[in-house]
Amino acid sequence: MSPASRASFVTCLGCGCACDDLTVQIADGRIADISPPCPVGRAWFGDGRVPGRILRGGAEVALEAALADAAETLAGARGGVLVLLAPDLSTQGQRAALAVADLLCATVDTATSGPAAAGLLAAQRRGRAAATLGEVRNRADVLLFWGVDPGPRYPRFLSRYALDPVGTHVTRGRAGRTVISVDIGRDRGPAGAESALVLAPDQEIAALSVMRAVALGNALGELPPALQAAADAAARLTTAAYAVLVHDGEPGEEPGRDAYRAEGLIALEYLGDETVTVAAGTFECHKFRYSDEDAGFVSKDGAHPTYDVWVTADEDSIFVKGGVGGYMQTWYELVELER
Ligand code: SF4
Repeated sequence: MSPASRASFVTCLGCGCACDDLTVQIADGRIADISPPCPVGRAWFGDGRVPGRILRGGAEVALEAALADAAETLAGARGGVLVLLAPDLSTQGQRAALAVADLLCATVDTATSGPAAAGLLAAQRRGRAAATLGEVRNRADVLLFWGVDPGPRYPRFLSRYALDPVGTHVTRGRAGRTVISVDIGRDRGPAGAESALVLAPDQEIAALSVMRAVALGNALGELPPALQAAADAAARLTTAAYAVLVHDGEPGEEPGRDAYRAEGLIALEYLGDETVTVAAGTFECHKFRYSDEDAGFVSKDGAHPTYDVWVTADEDSIFVKGGVGGYMQTWYELVELER
């Protein structure tokens, strides 16, 4: 049995908090615990054991045979090669994999790019405003948690950055910060917020559109309660000295959320209310526009024309009419409705 020891100032990559102040206790050559305690960090460190199985075609093989097989496959590759970095790979393993990729002029991808792809692609098309964790700690006076509770997802976020710490511009710590918590189906915001919104998954994009409209200073008509709460939250954000919107870049617990909500956050626009007559009758409607001014969906003819959509101005948000002009010239409308 080897003696117990400890390593100080260890960095954890278990979540985006990137804590670099951990003490890791080691016993019998294995990681025994970490402090300060963090369940996500503890799971991320595991016991420090590096996975040791070597498989080829699902069957265990000797290292030499696997290496020879991999080298032969790579050397004989025709066309593009993709090197996929697996989860739980050591830093040294990643470095070696990238060196191989360089030699082969290969494309490199990771196992985590899929879940985060929608947000990454939206950021590429539209741009994204971000903040350092230091700015959050020192400046954030209004924080909106959009369908994420940092307690289970980023356990030390609240104690290290916000809400609890005193910041250079938030000298009263938690008492100087306002929290807006948004539940979206099963993806819950934090408890104890100054205000809370509860949205069904299919209300998420509409709520984001309303908030964008408020931020742009557009006048809104009467809204259903959930969307009015979203409008109120946006109004509070616009009065902040430093507003921070915290959301998850990867899928949460709620399966019904729109995979392209990151795009919706920055491309949808609420244009106000209109009375619309179609074959199915006359309806009071909210009008939304899905714009593509930056040519995110560019075609050979340039930017995609804007989509205009009218939905009933009630809790049901029934599609009444909508379509896209320009070179698309495609329109739909409601011809019959039974309630
Ligand atoms: S909050 Fe926990 S999981 Fe996240 S980086 Fe810090 S110790 Fe690791």
